[in-house]
Order: sequence, then structure tokens, then C-alpha cells
Amino acid sequence: MEYLKQSLALNRELGQDRSAAFNLINITINLIDNNDLERAKQYLNDLEQMEICSKDNFINLWYRFCKAYLLKTSLRAPNRGEAEVILKQILDEEFDDYELNVWTLLKLCELLLIEVRTLNDLGILEEVETLIAQLLDLAEKSQSYHLLTEINFLKGKIALLTLDMKEARKSLTQAQRIAERWGFNQLATKISLEHDKLRNQLSMWDDLREEEISLSDRIKLAGMDEHMEHLLRNRATLTTQVKEEQITVHKERKICLVCKGDILGFMYACSCDALYCEKCARALSEIENVCLVCNTPIDITKPIKPYKEEEVGKKDIVKEPHKNPKNNDIPLKK
Ligand SMILES: [Zn+2]
Ligand SMILES: [Zn+2]
Repeated sequence: MEYLKQSLALNRELGQDRSAAFNLINITINLIDNNDLERAKQYLNDLEQMEICSKDNFINLWYRFCKAYLLKTSLRAPNRGEAEVILKQILDEEFDDYELNVWTLLKLCELLLIEVRTLNDLGILEEVETLIAQLLDLAEKSQSYHLLTEINFLKGKIALLTLDMKEARKSLTQAQRIAERWGFNQLATKISLEHDKLRNQLSMWDDLREEEISLSDRIKLAGMDEHMEHLLRNRATLTTQVKEEQITVHKERKICLVCKGDILGFMYACSCDALYCEKCARALSEIENVCLVCNTPIDITKPIKPYKEEEVGKKDIVKEPHKNPKNNDIPLKK
């Protein structure tokens, strides 16, 4: 915090508007996170002044984000409603700033989940699912595997709220596989425990379907609040982007649909062109044993070794996927 303030003073002296604005943004967000709302308001006012003078779209959007973030802390529904409107407007502008878009989507999810509970409205949950799809897309494109893990984890939790056990287990499996593949060991353990818990509670969740239990109670049972709190706590780690060294080594990269890593050992190719690495294919075989794309059973008795296709029998030759997985689009970090 002290460092941020020093940096702010220096950037102001040098007339570095964007850097000074970024310091102000970080200070404001830190203060809000620490519940020091009065001081957060002062910094937000400074940011507003800077925004008016600079006419810089980047500063304008981040100012609006901070404003919504502050409004969101209010216990009054109209303020939270205003925050929601601002966040949606930010998304509509489709400004190319990875962090801004991720945090706007996450904060919007959080707001909508509060609404789901207070209004007991399943329709709002569909809106959350749309945001989650956007987050997954963003995380994959920018190779933020930590975010990709967390969002799949969240997707599993949301599936619990709609009592869709199959989807919940699929998402948890995928979250766990991504965490394992990219070495997020603590997170992998956490997801694995959660998955075990779910496996033991399957009959309880099945019973809930018949009892027509309220969404608010389901949110409590799924531990949603604690989950969101944990998810949003670690700002820096969450949006870290990973750049893999071997990315350009293989001309024809084979990427596993589940863990998004290069397939280096055995590969399972579905008739729909979906590819799975050995570990992910086995993980899927333990739940439904079907392809995530086309629902065809995954036959793990027929593995194929990639890159040495000449060694494989003719009928087993792997076809190229229609589209290359999206992995070239790495936005620069601000
Ligand atoms: Zn995999
Ligand atoms: Zn398939």
C-alpha cells in the first residue's frame, strides 16, 4: 500500500496518467477489500477527476469498475442494482483488457448469486452460467490455467444448485485434471476432496430434487458463499497467465480437450475429432465414460500414440481436428 502511494506520487509528478491511474485503481480496490470504504471513496473521487481530464477509455472503464465495486459492497439493493448495470455496460463495450473483463465477469457472477438467493429465481442462474461460459473462453484464450481450473470448479458448484449431478461431476473432474496437469497441487487436492464429498452425498442431492428445496438452501448446502470468497481472495494468482515453452516445438500440437495440455503420451481420439490425454480419458471413464462433445462412449482400450502415426494401424490414424484449439491469442499483460 505504501509502495502504491509512493508510486502514485511519482507517476503524478512525471505526468504518467495511465500509470498513476493504475496506482489509484489498485489503492481503491485494496481499500474496498479491506473494508475501508471512506478512504476508498476519496481515492475513487481522485480517479474520477483524472478520468474527466484524461479522456482515456482505459481509465474511464476502470473508474467505472471501481465505482461498481464500491456500490456492490452496499447492503442496499438499489446500490447493488446500479453496480450490476455498470458492470454489464463495461462488458458491452468489449474493451480489450483481460484483467478488466475477468474481474467484471467475476463481480457480476457474485452479484447475481446474491440475487439468486434473495429472489429464489432459477432464471438468474442461467445468466450466471452464461457469464461462466464467457470466463472459460477468456481463460482458455489467454492461457490462464489457474482461472480455468477455478471457473470449472465454480461451474461444478453451480451445477449442484440446479441439481445436475452429471454436470457437476464433469466440471469437477475437468477442474481437477487441469489443476493436476498444470501443477496447482493444493488446488487439485481441494477439488479432489470436494469431489469425494459429492460422491458421498449423491443420494442426499437426489433426495433434494423431490423435496423442492429453495435455492437459498441449496446455496448454503453447496457452500457457495465460502467458495466465492475463496475464489475472489487471491487476485494476483487468479489471473496469472502461463506461457508454455514447447508451444512452437510441434507443428501439429495435439491438445487434450479436458486439461488443455499437450498430449505427449497415449491419446484417445473420439470419432467426433475430440482428443483426450490418457489421464483425462481415464478420469472421464470413471464418471460417465462418454466424450464431452458428442457423448459417444470413450473406449480406453484403444489408445493411440501421437506423433508416430506410421506405427499405428491404418484404421486408427488420427484425423486432424477441424479447428486448431485457441492458443495463439495471448493478450499482453498490463
Ligand atoms: Zn488431458
Ligand atoms: Zn466425441
